[in-house]
Amino acid sequence: MTTSVTIGNLQVTALVDLTPPPRDVSMIFPDVPAADWEPHQALALENGMWQTQYCSFVIRPASGEGPVVLVDTAMGPGPHEPDGVPGRLLEELAVNGVEPGEVDFVITTHPHGDHVGWNVTYDGDTARATFPNAQYVVSRADWDQWTSAAVAPNVPAIGHSLQPLEGLGVLKLVDGEQEIAPGIKTLPANGHTPGHQCVLIESGGESGVVIGDLFHNLAQVTQTAWCPMFDWNQDMARTSRRDILGRASSGGWTVFAGHLRIGRNIGKVTGSRERFTWQPV
Ligand SMILES: [Zn+2]
Repeated sequence: MTTSVTIGNLQVTALVDLTPPPRDVSMIFPDVPAADWEPHQALALENGMWQTQYCSFVIRPASGEGPVVLVDTAMGPGPHEPDGVPGRLLEELAVNGVEPGEVDFVITTHPHGDHVGWNVTYDGDTARATFPNAQYVVSRADWDQWTSAAVAPNVPAIGHSLQPLEGLGVLKLVDGEQEIAPGIKTLPANGHTPGHQCVLIESGGESGVVIGDLFHNLAQVTQTAWCPMFDWNQDMARTSRRDILGRASSGGWTVFAGHLRIGRNIGKVTGSRERFTWQPV
């Protein structure tokens, strides 16, 4: 089971915070007829159901010298429905030799609740940064959207896990492509949310991309038009999906997909816009 891949001098490791119960794809992709899933049963579903995972990725120099970057903070401490299990991200980091204080940057692909859960930890009502020495990188378009008076009060994760970053003095808003650490930069891929961003990794002539929620299910690699109900602007999401997959294919990028199952969520993409194919590494 591959959970760690080296891109040039940078090591990228998948960390599973939580594995939720399988879900019915017809609920997640309401516009896709059930029969259209048939060709994808073997690769994209398990017993006809969508089994996702909530993953973060840690990127650090293979030498051990240099910034440690965490992409997304998954579901958080919990306890989570339906079994009351806690998130495991901090244990997964520890197993991989990373203490919270060693994380220099937390890059948020987008502030949905399953990507910001460990941002802050509460002592009673008091929030503290779970990664106390990190700057938390959030796209300005998402910050503006999700913290707006019209949206924030209706989305508990925003008040709980996103807005406290500003008062804690750890928030770093970015626009467009911006280098965060050597060889690591934000790559806008809007549509899932207004400011959704991937993370591009370039080192030693090799490239990789952490895709956030560019796609949720492997079937979307070939069926790039399929959108889950979570996509904010479906046309924009499709355009971003095809653009990034095309660049990954032509550039030989390694792709890190947090919602695919661990062990098959790191792969390469081949083909073109007409038909992309996923090859796990
Ligand atoms: Zn997600």
